[in-house]
Amino acid sequence: MTELIIRGNLILPDRVIENGWLLLKAGLVEEIREASQVPDRPGAEVHDYRGHWVSPGLVDVHLHGALGEEVMDGRVDGLRKIAAHQAACGVTAFFPTTLTAPLETVIRAIEAVKEAASLDLPSTIAGIHLEGPYVSLKRKGAQDPKYVREIQPDDLRTLIAALGPLKTLITIAPEAGQNLDYIPRMVEAGWTVSIGHSDATYDEANRAIAAGANHATHLFNAWREFHHREPGGLGAVLDSDRVFAELITDGIHVHPSFVRLAVFRKSPDRICLVTDSLKAAGLPDGVYDWGDLQIVLKGAEVRLKDSGVLAGSVLHLNHGVRNVLKWTGLSLPQVIRMASLTPAESVGFDRVMGSLERGKIANVAVFDSNLETVATYLKGKKVFPEREGE
Ligand SMILES: [Zn+2]
Repeated sequence: MTELIIRGNLILPDRVIENGWLLLKAGLVEEIREASQVPDRPGAEVHDYRGHWVSPGLVDVHLHGALGEEVMDGRVDGLRKIAAHQAACGVTAFFPTTLTAPLETVIRAIEAVKEAASLDLPSTIAGIHLEGPYVSLKRKGAQDPKYVREIQPDDLRTLIAALGPLKTLITIAPEAGQNLDYIPRMVEAGWTVSIGHSDATYDEANRAIAAGANHATHLFNAWREFHHREPGGLGAVLDSDRVFAELITDGIHVHPSFVRLAVFRKSPDRICLVTDSLKAAGLPDGVYDWGDLQIVLKGAEVRLKDSGVLAGSVLHLNHGVRNVLKWTGLSLPQVIRMASLTPAESVGFDRVMGSLERGKIANVAVFDSNLETVATYLKGKKVFPEREGE
């Protein structure tokens, strides 16, 4: 097996090694060195990125599509294209995310995700995120209200059978119907339960957390308003040391002031930067079909054509990292952590991915000083830019 040496400024969980090197072997990180001297490893290829950032591959646990492709279309080829877009953003693991829809449509999307996850794609499909249909009608955001429903015992059995061992993150409104009562069963099935699209009060959200929910879907978007006498689910999530919170950091979904509130209240080891990107990500401005609805992309904003409601983003995760660096003044290792190690930990994968550490999967993103992607490596193999002829 060929060894590969990557040189550059290494972003480790707690510090930067300037002009260091990584040795990748058999798809894993074999060695990390400070020495500016490249070791004598006969036969090893050297990829020299001195002057650039060498980061762990990013992890996005919430995205619906890109480049005209949409997870809900249930197409394996579409997922392949979405994976290529992720690699171009420095993302090496992601959770394709479904929308509120009839159960049959969700199941069809699950089947496609399972098939795509077994393929050799340029970015790993590490699991699936089911966003709905068990959300709050009052906080539906851009979710289609026609298909919003409360969890039924049969639904859960059907979904558990369809998902099998695929790692599952599910967004629910715990206060709707009997949804809260199903959290322990979901946790028992190995799912990560996320509160989101929810009108939960502070107490209701705390009951969901006590029942096993430990994730919060795009904090501040589609939540009950923050009030100083009823802080709602937002207050419960901000108060919890255990719950991971997603943030869409495109500068449109959440004001930088509230990004700072969440980041500094919860710390970088509980914040997951996500894109929530739609099929319009990577496409020019225009009107696009989106399930039964239409979306309008203008600049960095995507809105439902009919109601003008914000509908996901066209954010690239590396740009989300760049924004948070600017808004918080935190160090690069701290901000990269929110887009790699912390989201990996939120779904239980932090032992194998999410940081440049010996023995972990060799998923690496190389960024320039403006956080644009220069190269991406998956399991020690270069996947972006694609080589000519491939
Ligand atoms: Zn979403």
